Amino acid sequence: MAKVIYPGTFDPVTNGHIDIVSRAIELFDEVIVTVARNPGKTSLFTIEERVEMLKESLKDYERVVVDSFDGLVVNHAKQVGAVGIIRGLRAISDFEYEFQMALMNRKLAGEITTILLMPHARYTYLNSTIVRNLAQFQGDVSEFVPPIVVEKLKLKFGNKEG
Ligand code: ADP
Repeated sequence: MAKVIYPGTFDPVTNGHIDIVSRAIELFDEVIVTVARNPGKTSLFTIEERVEMLKESLKDYERVVVDSFDGLVVNHAKQVGAVGIIRGLRAISDFEYEFQMALMNRKLAGEITTILLMPHARYTYLNSTIVRNLAQFQGDVSEFVPPIVVEKLKLKFGNKEG
């Protein structure tokens, strides 16, 4: 039984993240989507809110689990018995960073393999920052994020149209 973890900030989860999960679950028996507890990074949503939105968005995927972790990704992967780390690759702009991380993680734990998956082209320009900025100014984010995230963003920023 091959398990992988998909770590990230998920502030908030977007349809791009969901696309990556749906590809990963076709390859592996279990995907653990795991929210990084990064105290150095300020976020819009709390860890608990991000976990809740992921759980709701992924509730139809039976073999997908959501959790959170502290510290090094490779340590969390080892702890849960994962064989690999899933990351998404949208464009060349992601490549340098993901490549560096993959090689560093390989150095730290040679037995954990990084697997980079490309989303559908329609998600290549999508990220959580753009979604947060759009929502802040009451832009319509409904085609970019799951319905639960649309709701939570409305609650965060208020929405004059209701
Ligand atoms: P991090 O801060 O770890 O990059 P993110 O939540 O921004 O956390 O992203 C987690 C992972 O998902 C990263 O590998 C990122 O490249 C990938 N990702 C983010 N947005 C998309 C998207 N629209 N399509 C595909 N992969 C994505």
